Amino acid sequence: MNIALIAHDKKKELMVQFCIAYCGILSKHTLCATGTTGKLVAEATGLPIQNYLSGSQGGDQQISARIACDEIDLLLFFRDPITPKPHEPKESDLLRLCDVHNIPLATNIATAEALIHALERGDLDWRNIVNPTKNR
Ligand code: PGA
Repeated sequence: MNIALIAHDKKKELMVQFCIAYCGILSKHTLCATGTTGKLVAEATGLPIQNYLSGSQGGDQQISARIACDEIDLLLFFRDPITPKPHEPKESDLLRLCDVHNIPLATNIATAEALIHALERGDLDWRNIVNPTKNR
């Protein structure tokens, strides 16, 4: 499965700790991330991650484009709901595209925990059945 990671600045440490904790599960999948999030997670875990641009430079939109092409199976997007971001409207588009394409999405660690266990159990394998021709 293709998993995308994004974390706002105040949630980056949480994302790093999450990825360390679930490194064994994540290592069985293909990861991509916005620039800084991916760099921090890769440094902490050693996991191979395809890094896109930083969120403020369009990294969210690069991930949005892959979601629109149905190339992402799970998005873990740890948002900081308190601090407003200048590129927030682009992020709502990213969330909207997850709904359009039925992409499992976690915007906080509680949901991320539930989804990572679902992933490990194979509960998300329907993504492969829905579109078996896509490049994973
Ligand atoms: P970043 O982007 O991982 O490059 O910081 C995420 C964000 O939009 O904050």
